[in-house]
Amino acid sequence: MKIRRLKLSGFKSFVEPAELRIEAGLTGVVGPNGCGKSNLLEAIRWTMGESSPKSLRGGGMDDVIFAGTSSRPPRDFAEVSILIERDGSDEGGAGESEITRRIERGAGSAYRIDGRDVRAKDVSLLFADAATGAHSPALVSQGKISSIISAKPVERRLLLEIPKSSAT
Ligand code: ATP
Repeated sequence: MKIRRLKLSGFKSFVEPAELRIEAGLTGVVGPNGCGKSNLLEAIRWTMGESSPKSLRGGGMDDVIFAGTSSRPPRDFAEVSILIERDGSDEGGAGESEITRRIERGAGSAYRIDGRDVRAKDVSLLFADAATGAHSPALVSQGKISSIISAKPVERRLLLEIPKSSAT
């Protein structure tokens, strides 16, 4: 499974609709401190079903919604879509799918796959079947590399093992 495109609107610092295309080969995002690079990785994990606001650097899940600035009012919702390309070995065969998560202030999250309303569980299953997801060791956030290097063998093992929540 490959992520081909990320579309964000109202998610953290991405108040205006923004699109990140991930082409073949390496794609890098470069920018000054605080410009939103980590927010992009968090947007991917959030859409894959991340349920811990703390791991998205927030106090509550509504904190992923653009909170406003001195010159811009806050938003009432955030929406992120991931376009994935499945290869033949993935569940459902080869093809493309768009997974969307939307949150409205005070009303929680809703998920869609190719425009169809689905449960959070359907989204986590889709990514679990492809051996990836919000807690995949393939998604490494800032500061994680140094913690992996300095970790004790037992801690490093925990990081690579399937998270308990997706093993049940
Ligand atoms: P660094 O290189 O310093 O780690 P970065 O490019 O990874 O920075 P992020 O940490 O992704 O940047 O972005 C942080 C920015 O996102 C901050 O300016 C913060 O104010 C902004 N931000 C986070 N949540 C929200 C929100 N809900 N509404 C508006 N802005 C937000």
